[in-house]
Amino acid sequence: MCEELIAAHTKFNNMIEDKTWRKVDPCDARIMALTTKLEQLEMTRPAAIKPAAGRNEVHIADWRKKFDCEKKDMEEKTWHLCKQHKTKDDYDGLYVSLHTPKTHDKWEKNKKVCKAKSKGKAVDSSASEGATK
Ligand SMILES: [Zn+2]
Repeated sequence: MCEELIAAHTKFNNMIEDKTWRKVDPCDARIMALTTKLEQLEMTRPAAIKPAAGRNEVHIADWRKKFDCEKKDMEEKTWHLCKQHKTKDDYDGLYVSLHTPKTHDKWEKNKKVCKAKSKGKAVDSSASEGATK
């Protein structure tokens, strides 16, 4: 019963020995090419494409760009108008909840430290001095 299998196995071994196994049947080659193409198509399907919005892109609510007073309570937080936040054509001043205009510099410094930390860079211990709330 197993003779055929043994024969096939022997043939395969012989093919490896005389290196004829490298000679792919033209028909197989075509199927292989098609399979490769299909795999490539699978990879480029819309589902496989990452969302266009970058992970670093933070959505800023419109109300934060329009200011009528120094400070406002929104979304269970107190927001302070900080004029140090500006972009060329989006906003000139922004409501921020994590700091006030007075503490902007300190906050900015801390932000840089955090960024450096997340990049895995070594940060000297003096940087944690501003961490008190
Ligand atoms: Zn600020």
